[in-house]
Amino acid sequence: MLEIIVMRNDLKLKDLYPGFAVRISRMLGFCQDKEWNVEITAGLRSFHQQDDLWQKNRNDQGEPIGSVLTNAKGGQSWHNYGLAVDIVFKDQNLNALFDDLRYAELGVVADYFHIHWLGENPKIKGDIYHFDVNFGYTINELLAIYNGPEGGLHGVWKHLDNRGGMKS
Ligand SMILES: [Zn+2]
Repeated sequence: MLEIIVMRNDLKLKDLYPGFAVRISRMLGFCQDKEWNVEITAGLRSFHQQDDLWQKNRNDQGEPIGSVLTNAKGGQSWHNYGLAVDIVFKDQNLNALFDDLRYAELGVVADYFHIHWLGENPKIKGDIYHFDVNFGYTINELLAIYNGPEGGLHGVWKHLDNRGGMKS
């Protein structure tokens, strides 16, 4: 893997839920051995950043006016809890490679490391870059914890710890 990509990946990894980051690290280590240049292009995203992303290519009423980037508003994405990454294959010049077969191969690798690859669901098109782990929670359960008394991101992470999130 290119050194610059390794540096960028490390920056993204440190913002993730540690129990998830560990699994992604192991997967990236495997990719490095294979000499695959894979870059984490999105990791943790705040609720606010998620809302901004949702608004892109929508009008003030929230109706699509082009191809929308996400259907998830703030709190509705695994990215908002540090439990998702988007990973893109890059060539030597850091340009993205669009090759479905490579992603399918990475999906198999992800499964081995107990990471869920969204691309395995053919109904969700365009999200072959997305990998997450839910640790047995639904997104609504995490949102309720986030908004609860000992909430916020660290409240959510504490719940994940209690569920054995650090054991993988
Ligand atoms: Zn994603």
